[in-house]
Amino acid sequence: MTPGPRGPQAFTQDTAQVLAVDKKTKHLRYLPAGEGNGEMEPGVTWRGYVAQGMLLCPEPDCGLPFGRVVAGGGRRHHFAHRPGEGEHDAGTGPETLWHLSAKDVLARWAASQPSLAGWTLHLDDAPITLPDGWRRPDVLAVSPDGVKVAFEVQYSALTGTDWKARHDFYFKAGVVDIWLFAHHGPQWRAATARQLRRAELVWRDPDWAATVQLSGLHQTMLQHGVIPLWLDPTTQTIGTATTRVHAAHTSPDARLGEDAAYTLPPRRAFPACHIAADPLEQCDVDLAARELLTPTRRVHCKERDRFQADEQVAQERAARVRAQLHVQQEERTRRRRAAEQEKRRAIAAQVAEEQAEREKREHEELRRKEEERAAFEARQKMPLTQQFPPMFGQEPPSPPKPPWWKPWQRIARS
Ligand SMILES: [Zn+2]
Repeated sequence: MTPGPRGPQAFTQDTAQVLAVDKKTKHLRYLPAGEGNGEMEPGVTWRGYVAQGMLLCPEPDCGLPFGRVVAGGGRRHHFAHRPGEGEHDAGTGPETLWHLSAKDVLARWAASQPSLAGWTLHLDDAPITLPDGWRRPDVLAVSPDGVKVAFEVQYSALTGTDWKARHDFYFKAGVVDIWLFAHHGPQWRAATARQLRRAELVWRDPDWAATVQLSGLHQTMLQHGVIPLWLDPTTQTIGTATTRVHAAHTSPDARLGEDAAYTLPPRRAFPACHIAADPLEQCDVDLAARELLTPTRRVHCKERDRFQADEQVAQERAARVRAQLHVQQEERTRRRRAAEQEKRRAIAAQVAEEQAEREKREHEELRRKEEERAAFEARQKMPLTQQFPPMFGQEPPSPPKPPWWKPWQRIARS
């Protein structure tokens, strides 16, 4: 990250009057930070010039000369009216002032940018026309060979659909359009505590200036590959939407591990993002990518390459692991099938054995019955005397029973 020394102070909602109209040239003068006690030009101090009443308030409804230069204390050096004069700051709000300063700062930056040397600058005075309409960009830079870059500074609310229509208009007209949002007003909403707990916002670079919500407009821009940018004219700083995202292949345990995170633009569905502040002087127009290339965007490009390389390595590793798993699975299946076959064979053998045993028993039973039947038949054929030998025994007949009157004989016998 290259936030520059004034990065952390940027985007602090400071609405200090740092611009004034030079009464002599009618051009805007910018008071750089900390220069309130210095010289505006060699031999002319800011304080002296203001004291002559030569620096006028740029507010369209005011135009009064500034009364003093406030230089000292913790605040940024700025111009101020005399007490009782120019009570408009709260009334007109910062919109007009921001718009005015933004255009002025952009025009001054474009004029000093080496890569835009020789380009013609138009402020609000060069409409782009197409058969179906026209648009007048806030700042239009035209190269000697006719390449056009339009800067749109957007303070007020704008729907994604309207932005898309304007973006398409510039595309059809062959104009590179660069959109810059205000760091207060409807385009700047601080992220909620709930959003700050999201994984992509938990980690932040200490130099990142703020964390803001991404509106439907910003999400539409992200959907079309345009990264939202904010402009703080007071510090001449560009803020780039950025997040710290983790790769999809990272395991949940490593989610907050910073080695596995990448500094990338927010994804379309993110509700909020960090703002990385870069000095405007370090930004450049990338005509091929059709965007303002801030140092943070350069970091994004590098990180995207790293992310893609890591992703490829991870995919290859996953494929290897899958192949290995497949081989192991195959081996397990083979072993299970073999075991099942073995078991089936054992069961079949046992069944056969039991069958044989049963057959043997039945056979024996049959044989026994057969023998019994044969013995019975053989007995049937025998003469009765042999069949029942006791009935035809040769024993002598038992002695006759003694008569009843000779009981003594019976007693004597027994
Ligand atoms: Zn004023």
